Amino acid sequence: MQDNVLDLTNCNICPRHCGVNRYNGLGFCRIGVEPLVASIFLHKGEEPVISGEKGICNVFFAHCNLQCIYCQNHQISKNHTANHKWLNNIENIVENITKILDTGVSMLGFVSPSHQVVQMLKIIEGVKEKGYHPTIVYNSNGYDNVETLRLLENVVDVYLPDFKYFCAGTSKRYSGVADYFDVAAKAIREMYRQKGSSLILNEDGTIAFGLIVRHLVLPGHSYESIKILKYIAENLSPRLHVSLMSQYYPPENLRLPRELERDINENEYVQVVNVMHDLGLRGWIQEPESQFHYRPDFNSQIPFLGD
Ligand code: SF4
Repeated sequence: MQDNVLDLTNCNICPRHCGVNRYNGLGFCRIGVEPLVASIFLHKGEEPVISGEKGICNVFFAHCNLQCIYCQNHQISKNHTANHKWLNNIENIVENITKILDTGVSMLGFVSPSHQVVQMLKIIEGVKEKGYHPTIVYNSNGYDNVETLRLLENVVDVYLPDFKYFCAGTSKRYSGVADYFDVAAKAIREMYRQKGSSLILNEDGTIAFGLIVRHLVLPGHSYESIKILKYIAENLSPRLHVSLMSQYYPPENLRLPRELERDINENEYVQVVNVMHDLGLRGWIQEPESQFHYRPDFNSQIPFLGD
């Protein structure tokens, strides 16, 4: 491993370990040295401690270091996509963020930051230079490098990673990587080392410091969800906060294997919910009908209904 894990001339920032020089070439994520931000907007549909009353200013990075075949953000996450409206200038990005923070919003979330960590750090620096000190939320797919995360210890206040798969076959089939579980388990362990299992809340009930692990239940995979929950309780902490999500739906225009061409049903979701209760894990459980509220359209000014 190189000395400086944030060195863009030999990129090993994420577990893809492309080793490319991002000043004159592109790795798997197809992002160079400038940021590429697809959308910045006020979002109110997150967990109550994340959104609070006022919502969170979410910065959605373009492209992703995983390419999940069912991605609900596929309009912006696919690495071959481009859009002339996307922002690639730090000043513009900071200006868009501070406009939202000026409305009294205290939370700043970075969505899919794993391949743009250097760019994220520059954006945060720019925001702080303007005199703003929001709570920084790192909302990743869990496919993160431990070495990179160590460098974020004093920058990120709240980790909000996914923990998607238990089985190598599933992660290979749906996200193209067989090592997802091993990588994400190590990454989440590092996040837990930094933040522990308790959440520190602000007076208004929003989170100031902590770790919340998200898990999306996939159709036909409740057994795998149960394994993930058991792994968290038995190997990390039974006191950890988990956000169990039922919002999976088969996005239009994506070619999916037959088993992913349906929503999850209540029966398979309830099995997972029951195990979460039995294990004593804390957190949030989405209502089974949530898939109707989380169908983003990034071509719209307001990508999520209800914001
Ligand atoms: S951040 Fe991009 S270029 Fe760097 S290792 Fe990951 S996928 Fe490859």
